[in-house]
Amino acid sequence: MEIPLHRLNPAPAHRPPLTMAVDMPLPASRFLDAVELATLNRIGDHLCPGQPDLPSFSAAGVVSEFDRIAPGMHPRDLADLRLLLHFIARLPSPFLMGLLKLSHAASTCQWPVLAVLRQMEIGLSGLCYSLYYGFTQPASGPLIRDALHWDATISTELPGENEMTELIDLANPLKTTQDDWVSTIYQRAQTAQQRIGAMPVAERLNYLRRLKNILLARREEIVGQVVKESGKSRFDALVGEIFAVCDGLDYLLKNAGKLLKDEKVPTSIAMMGKQSRICYEPLGTVLIIAPWNYPFNQAIDPIAISFVTGNATIFKPSELTPLTGLVESVLQQAGFEPGWVQVVYGDGQVGSQLIDGKPNKIFFTGSVATGRKIASKAAVSLIPVELELGGKDPMLVFEDADLERAVAGALWGGLTNTGQSCTAVERLYVHEAIYDTFKAKLVARARQIRIGIDLDDDMGPMISDRQTAIVRDLVEDAERHGARRLTGEQWNGIDRRIPPIILEGSSHAMRINQEEIFGPVIPIFRFRTEAEAIQLANDSSFGLSASVWSKDMTRAERVARALVTGNVSINNVMVTEGNHYLPFGGTRDSGIGRYKGRYGLHNFCNMKSMMMEKMSGKIEANWYPYTAEKYRLFDQLTTGLYGGGLSHFVRFAKAGLGIESLAAKLWKKGR
Ligand code: NAD
Repeated sequence: MEIPLHRLNPAPAHRPPLTMAVDMPLPASRFLDAVELATLNRIGDHLCPGQPDLPSFSAAGVVSEFDRIAPGMHPRDLADLRLLLHFIARLPSPFLMGLLKLSHAASTCQWPVLAVLRQMEIGLSGLCYSLYYGFTQPASGPLIRDALHWDATISTELPGENEMTELIDLANPLKTTQDDWVSTIYQRAQTAQQRIGAMPVAERLNYLRRLKNILLARREEIVGQVVKESGKSRFDALVGEIFAVCDGLDYLLKNAGKLLKDEKVPTSIAMMGKQSRICYEPLGTVLIIAPWNYPFNQAIDPIAISFVTGNATIFKPSELTPLTGLVESVLQQAGFEPGWVQVVYGDGQVGSQLIDGKPNKIFFTGSVATGRKIASKAAVSLIPVELELGGKDPMLVFEDADLERAVAGALWGGLTNTGQSCTAVERLYVHEAIYDTFKAKLVARARQIRIGIDLDDDMGPMISDRQTAIVRDLVEDAERHGARRLTGEQWNGIDRRIPPIILEGSSHAMRINQEEIFGPVIPIFRFRTEAEAIQLANDSSFGLSASVWSKDMTRAERVARALVTGNVSINNVMVTEGNHYLPFGGTRDSGIGRYKGRYGLHNFCNMKSMMMEKMSGKIEANWYPYTAEKYRLFDQLTTGLYGGGLSHFVRFAKAGLGIESLAAKLWKKGR
C-alpha cells in the first residue's frame, strides 16, 4: 500500500496561543538603553516576524535572554553592538530592510569587499536569530521545540483511511505501534534522496554555506546546549563543536565542488581511443550512528559530508547527548527539507533496528565493542561500514624536546574534553634523561587545572556515572598492581568531577594500559632508546593516532613512520583530526575506513568508473572468435607492451595492428 510521505503533522494541540505584543510596553534591559532596545526589536521583528503559531521577536520576550547572555560577551563586542544599534536607529525602515537583505545576500558570497556586510549578517542578524531561537529562553523555547515537531514525526496516513493516521515519533520510535517504522523512514529517505541527488553540488553547497552562518550566529546557544548535556567546559565546546564544525564546513565549501567533479584518468595505451573517468555519485541513504563525546560535531560533520555527496541521511545521536531538536532546528533554518536528514532518537536498540532498513552505508563512531556488533550485522546484508572507534594514543617525548611545550601538550592532550576523546593521550612515554624534570612540571601543572563548566574553567565533569566507574575500576586495578597516583589522590572514585590523575608505575600488563580509559588519567612511563619507545608505543591493540616530540626532525619523522597508527603528529598533539584536508581513521581495533579530506568525501560516494568511446564497427582484439593465430598475436602484443625497450614497442605496435585486422576478418567470416 502506498504511504504518502513528507506530510507535516498538525500543530500539537497544547501550543500556547500566539501573542503579538507589538503595542505592549517593552521590558527594559540592563545592558541596552531604550533606543538600542527598540532598534534591536525592530530588526528582530523584521527577521523573525512570527508565524501563525509562533510569536514575533519582540513578543517572544528576548530582552531577558539578551540580558542573560550579555555578561558573557566581550565588553568591546557589547560596545560595538550598542554603537551599531544607535547608528541603525537613525535609518528609515526601508533603508534598514534593504541593508538586512543585502547583508543576507552577502552571507553566501565570498567576495572580500562584502566582508562588512557578512559581519553584519553574522553579528546582528545572528544575534537576533540566536536570541529568538534560544532554547533556554522559557517564553520561546517550548514554542520552538513544538515547531520542530514537523521533522520529529512522520505521518503515515493511508489514503481514504484518515482515522488510521499513525505517527512515528522519531524521538521515540520504539513506542510506535507500526511494525515497519524503519521501512517508513527509509522510504522517506529514498524519496528525499532523489531531490538531493538531482541538485548540482553548487546548490547543495549553498545550503551548507547558510548552515555555517547559522552555526556562527547561534554558537552561544549550541555551546550552551552541548555543555548542558555533556558536561564539557565551555571552551572545549566552543573549540570542538563550533570552531571544528565551521572548519569542516569551510573545507567542504572550498573543496567539495572540485572533488566531486568527474575525474578524468589516463587510459592504457592498449586501449587507445577510449576515455576513462571516475564519477562521484551518491550512494543513496547513509545511516550515521554517533557517540556522545562531541555530540554536535559528530552530527553536523558527517551529515554535511553525506549531504554534499548527494545522499539522504538518517542520523542517530547517542542517547546520552541527544541535543533534542537542535540539529533539526539548524538544518531547517538553513533550508533543509524534512526527509533530507532524519534524526532518530534512541539507544542501541534503535540503532540496531535502523540497520535492518539496509542503508547504503553505515558511518559509525563509537566503541570497539559496538563497532564489532555493527560490522557483523552489516556483513549479513553486505552493507559497507566505516568504523571510527576507540584509541589508546601514545605520546613519545625525546630528550631534546622543548620541555614547556611538551608538558603543556601532554596536559591538554590527556585532559581536553575530560580525556573523553578518541585521540586523547592515554600513554605518555618520556626519555629517561628528562623524565624527572618533565614529571615534576607535569604534576605541578596538573594541580592547577580548574574543574567546572564556566568560562575560566579548564575541564568539565565526566559525562556519566557509568563512564566514571570505568575510570575508577581501571585506576584501582592499576593501583592494586603497584601503580600510584601523583595527582588526584583526593578523588573518591564516585564524583564525576575527576581531577587530573597522573599515574606512575603502571605497566603494559595492566588493564589501564590495554583498555581505553576515556577519562582524565595520564599513565607516564620512562624509556631509554628510540627502539624501545617505538616498541612500547606499538604494543597496543589500538592504532588511532600518536605524537612524537623532538627537535631532531629526522628522528621524529623516522619514529612517526614506524608507528602503527592511522594518524601521527610531530611536536603537537591531536592535530591531525583538526585538519580537514587529511583523512582520519585508525588501524587495528581503532577502526576501518577513512573519514574527512578527499578520501573521506569519496568514501560517501559510489565511485563509478566509466569508459567511453565513439560508436564504430570495430571488433575488439580480445573478443570472439578465438583462433591459434589470434593467440600468437596477442602473446606478441603482451610481451611487446610490457617487455620494455624500443624493439619491444615496435613488436607491440605490429602485433596490435595485425590483431585488429584479424579480429575484424574473423568476425566477418564467422565460425
Ligand atoms: P558506544 O559504542 O557505546 O555508542 C555509540 C553509538 O552506538 C550510540 O549512538 C549508541 O546508541 C549506538 N549503539 C550502541 N549499541 C548499538 C548497536 N548494537 N547497534 C547500533 N547502534 C548501537 O560509544 P560511546 O560510549 O557513545 O562513545 C565513546 C566511544 O567512541 C569511545 O570508544 C571513543 O573512543 C569512540 N570515539 C571514536 C572516535 C573516532 O573518530 N575514532 C571519535 C569519538 C569517539
